[in-house]
Amino acid sequence: MALKPLRPCRHPGCQVLTREGWCPKHRPQHKRRISVAWHRWYLLPLWTDKLRPEQLLREPFCRECAKSGVRTYAAVVDHIRPFRGDWTLFTDPGNLQSLCKSCHDRKTALEQAQDRRESDKYRR
Ligand SMILES: [Zn+2]
Ligand SMILES: [Zn+2]
Repeated sequence: MALKPLRPCRHPGCQVLTREGWCPKHRPQHKRRISVAWHRWYLLPLWTDKLRPEQLLREPFCRECAKSGVRTYAAVVDHIRPFRGDWTLFTDPGNLQSLCKSCHDRKTALEQAQDRRESDKYRR
């Protein structure tokens, strides 16, 4: 995968080169705060002791790899529809799938690219 080109930070007058749109100092803060709040849900016993281990028991192999006939042990329990702060989606076992680390990283990167496109829309 090709790296995105380095470009100056979008903050007016800031010359710091970045691949993310903004340098770490000027990156919009509100989005990050929301995602931190969701991240805490992954620390809840409901997730660590129930939803996650139950999903891995049900489906010990990576679902994405299985589509191409490969058996890879899953390492990550992923939300099929990104829950984005939605408690019902977060706790719905039907919204969970087992993925290996590389499939999960690929999906996360795609979702983050989508997020960026959406926040671009709002800014214009
Ligand atoms: Zn900057
Ligand atoms: Zn996989």
